[in-house]
Parts: sequence; structure tokens; C-alpha cells
Amino acid sequence: MTLIDQLRASVAGPVLGPADGDFAAEVAAWNLATQHTPEVAVGLTSEEDAAAVVRIAAATGTPVRVLASGHGSAIAVTDGILATTSRLTGVTVDPETRIAHINAGCRWADVIAAAAEHGLAPVAGASDNVGCIGYTLGGGLGPLARTYGFSSDWARGFRVVTAAGEVVTASATENPDLFWALRGGKGGFGIITSMDFELVELSTLYGGSVFFDAPHFAEALSTWVEWTHTLPETATSSVAMLRLPPLEFIPEPLRGKTVLTVRFAFVGDPAEGERLFQPIRDVGPTIIDAVAPMPAAAIATIHNDPRDPGPSWDRGGLLTDLDAEFVQTFLEVAGPDQQVPFIAMEIRHLGGATQRDVPEGSAVGGRGGVYTYFMAGVPDPSLFATVLPAAADAVLTPIRPWISPETTINYAGGLTVPGAYESAWPAETFARLAEVRAAYDPKTLFPYGPA
Ligand SMILES: Cc1cc2nc3c(=O)[nH]c(=O)nc-3n(C[C@H](O)[C@H](O)[C@H](O)COP(=O)(O)OP(=O)(O)OC[C@H]3O[C@@H](n4cnc5c(N)ncnc54)[C@H](O)[C@@H]3O)c2cc1C
Repeated sequence: MTLIDQLRASVAGPVLGPADGDFAAEVAAWNLATQHTPEVAVGLTSEEDAAAVVRIAAATGTPVRVLASGHGSAIAVTDGILATTSRLTGVTVDPETRIAHINAGCRWADVIAAAAEHGLAPVAGASDNVGCIGYTLGGGLGPLARTYGFSSDWARGFRVVTAAGEVVTASATENPDLFWALRGGKGGFGIITSMDFELVELSTLYGGSVFFDAPHFAEALSTWVEWTHTLPETATSSVAMLRLPPLEFIPEPLRGKTVLTVRFAFVGDPAEGERLFQPIRDVGPTIIDAVAPMPAAAIATIHNDPRDPGPSWDRGGLLTDLDAEFVQTFLEVAGPDQQVPFIAMEIRHLGGATQRDVPEGSAVGGRGGVYTYFMAGVPDPSLFATVLPAAADAVLTPIRPWISPETTINYAGGLTVPGAYESAWPAETFARLAEVRAAYDPKTLFPYGPA
């Protein structure tokens, strides 16, 4: 029997080869510049499907990779089985234990809605459209990071189909080495079918974003850097320079402009949040000021990340402490009067809870980072191979003194930059992750990392 026939005989979900009409839709990534061309795509409908896929893959020596929302698909899958999780939907929330049971196909919006019914919230990312499992496997730094830490700090257990075709629980008490690895170690351990995730009691925030026009950039950025040094852990913020296209979907006052946005999320008394945010308002007139008391369930409106799929190219990492010299250097190479092919250049403030590991330890890299940086290129695939990497290097070289040698995997992005994969974890963690992978997947059924 061929691989496809074996899978069709054992799996309830769709099993599609490249000749099948639905194949392209099944393997589509959020990043349209990445086109997956596996030998076969399997749409998982249950844990049993996932176990059957792994058993057949093990017997035939076929590699298995997982596609959820496709937000992390920067490297194309060109062989083996691509198991898709979009049909594994469903979240249940236990308000007593504050644990959400999240199936592998869920996105953060699903969990945010289910949690909000109980006055609870997940420590999620900036975009509620991203897949919960792929995001949390990489650690996950969101708009509440300084208050609550990496999202993986809130993972309490995973159901995993290992290379042996067995379904195991990974938690603090069962397979703790695998649990340690899944909280930030990202890929190569198995197919996760669900995750138990502790929610926080949170129904409102003081937060949102303000937008400044070009004449106020220098003042706003230097004030932001100084101001971050004064903020308590209950406040998380970021700044982004956006070069916005003159398109209809952009709000009219921002359309076609280069703007600087400051985002803010404060957990606590709104009056205190307003007081803390005042130095940013004092910078000068804003084009939009949308920082106010808000429902925690609207957290994705703080960053307003794009939702629709499109071609994307990005580069990111971590920064050490910033100062006035950084601001001057950065504006000289990337300020509003410079022609740089980046639609977004973002810096997020870390620290606080991101720097403290969970008591039992976890694999996530980047606890030493003080800020993140992230650059999204103009979404023109003809620029992705050489123009954008060269332009990114031209911005990053002068700010090299502030770039941290360590990074974290959700920000190392496509792993196409030499050394990005290795620097996403401290060396000791990287070595221990390799040991856990070798123990649970000795024949590398679940390949992960740069090719
Ligand atoms: C618009 C946007 C906003 C983002 N915002 C943030 C942010 O605020 N903070 C942050 O930290 N990151 C952020 N990211 C990065 C994001 O967390 C990663 O790209 C993440 O990998 C996306 O996971 P996914 O499951 O949605 O994507 P996918 O591309 O479907 O999956 C990515 C990888 O996750 C693994 N994976 C997913 N599901 C499973 C499973 N069930 N079993 C085993 N492995 C699995 C696989 O290795 C897979 O290749 C953002 C990305 C985008 C595009």
C-alpha cells in the first residue's frame, strides 16, 4: 500500500496528495510567501488520528511536521507528512481551577472569549489570531509580558503523541523533562493535541495605543526609553515606527503616513494607569489617542496586528538596556526621513516577570532580554531574498552594541539567519533540548530547526 492509502485506511480526517483539489488550501500558511509542498497533508480530527499518523510515519520512516494557523511558517515543508490541526477546535474553562483546556487547533481569540465569560484571561500574544500551541511552544511574549511573564509560564500540561505513537501527558508530575522542553523549546518533540493553560483573573485593563506624527518622533522615542526605566511590573509597553500604505483599511488620519505608536497595558487601578501614562501624553499632540480603560478581552486592539494572510518577511531578536545614544543611532539609520523598506519597526519592553523562571524550570530562551526588536519588511516577495536582509543588516549594524547575544525562538522567526536557531536558547538549555529530543524522538521523526 502507498503511504496515502495507508493513511486513508487509518485516519478519519482528510488525507490529501498534491493532485487533490483541496491540497493547496489544506497546506496554506498565513505567510503566503511560504508554500508548503509535503508528500501528503493529513487533516487531524482527533487524538486517535494523530496517533495513527505517527505510527504509520514511524513504520515508513516518513518525517512529520505540524501546521496550525500557519503564522510561524517561514520555512517551506517539502517532504513527508504535514499534519494540520485546524479541525481540533474547542476550549473548556474550569472557573474553579482557572485552567483552560485548549485543543490544538485553537487560536487565542477562542480562549480569550471562553475565559472572559468567567472574568478570566489567558496571558496571550499581541495577535489573537495566532495559534495557542505553536505560540506557547516558543515561549510567547505578549502585551502583558512584564506583569505575567512568558505565556509558556502559564502552561500546566500538554497531551503529546510521541514518536513511539503513544499519547502521553507532559506536566510537572508526568514526563517532567518533556514538559520542561515544551515550555519554550518549540519543535521536534511530537504532535501536541491539547494544552492545559492557567488563566489569570483579569477583566479590565488601562491600555491601548497613541500615534505621533514625524515631528515628534525623536522626543517620543527618547521619552519612551527613559520612561520604561521608571515603570512598575504592572505596566508593559512597546513602541513601533509604522510606514503605512495609502490604503482604505488604514484609519484615515494614519493613511499613507509614517507614524510612531506607543502601546500600553496596565493591570490595576485605571487612575494609576492614566497617571503612569501621562509622560507619553506630555510629549506633544497625537494623531490618535486610544489609551483608556478597556476590556481585557479586547487585548488584540492594543497592537492591531494584521489578520489577513499575506507575504511576510521579518527579522527580530532581543536588546539589552537602551539609552539616549541608542535613540540617536536608531533614528539616524531608520528615522522618518530615511528610506527603509520596513512597514513596521518595533521595540517591546521586557523585564519584570519575563526575567523570572517558573519554580520547576522551563526551556524558554530570552529571560535576560530587556527589550525585543522586530522589523517587518515591505510585503513584496521580490525583495525577500536579498534587498530586505541587506536593509535589515544596514539598520542592525550601527545598533549592534545594544543587540543581546541571546534571543528567543518566537523572535528568531524564520531561522534563516545564520546562528539564529542556536542563539534562541542559552547554550546549556540548547544542549538539554537536544537530549530531550533524542530521548523522545531518537530517529528524528519530527524534524525541527534550520535545514
Ligand atoms: C501577526 C503575528 C503576530 C505575532 N505576535 C507574537 C507575539 O505577540 N508574541 C510572540 O511571542 N510571538 C508572536 N508571533 C510569533 C508566533 O508566536 C509564532 O510564529 C508561532 O510559531 C505561531 O504559531 P502557530 O501555531 O500560529 O503557527 P504555525 O505556523 O501553524 O506553527 C508554527 C510551529 O509551531 C509548532 N506547532 C504548532 N502547533 C503544533 C502542535 N499541535 N504540535 C506540535 N507542534 C506544533 C510547529 O513547530 C510549527 O511549525 C506572531 C506572529 C505573527 C505572524
